[in-house]
Amino acid sequence: MLITHDTQCALDVLVDLLNTAPEAAEQEGLPDLAALRDFVIRHEISEVGTLTTADLEAVRLVRTQFRAVFLADSTPEAAELVNTLVAKAGSTPRLTNHDGHDWHMHFFAPCAALADHLAVEAGMALAFIVVAGERERLRHCEAPDCARVFVDLSRNRSRRYCDSRTCGNRMHVAAYRARQRTAAESPDALATALRG
Ligand SMILES: [Zn+2]
Ligand SMILES: [Zn+2]
Repeated sequence: MLITHDTQCALDVLVDLLNTAPEAAEQEGLPDLAALRDFVIRHEISEVGTLTTADLEAVRLVRTQFRAVFLADSTPEAAELVNTLVAKAGSTPRLTNHDGHDWHMHFFAPCAALADHLAVEAGMALAFIVVAGERERLRHCEAPDCARVFVDLSRNRSRRYCDSRTCGNRMHVAAYRARQRTAAESPDALATALRG
């Protein structure tokens, strides 16, 4: 898949952001400004000024809007959502080599509010995914009690579960137990099991 390191990093930030949502994390993962500041530091998000409760609310709103991109049924739907997010935030593409990083693009406007910064950078990363024909890699976990999202980077796009709460393992165990139950309810299988 032809995506750059910067796109990959922006997607990592986005997935982490989306998985702080109450529906994905069981409780609000960004409950206050301290949590938001931690998020900014953890992801080394640059050019972030003093954060306010307005920033917190705006980031939560953007989070909800991005979640819809991962849940979109079609590429046109996803494209429209991404276009709306980026247009509303306003972007100023420019080259930068801040903090010892090699030359790379920033798409957010200088001095942009954090929510706009995230909307533009994550929006552009998603745009590159769509352009690469890889929109279907934007997934939500198929475990029934899990609402986390992830980007499926597997070669054959076969990933169905998030890894953060080992949903894949849980689902495989559940399927194994279900098979055992079916076998136990079938007399032939029971006889085989008893002989074994
Ligand atoms: Zn940068
Ligand atoms: Zn999951």
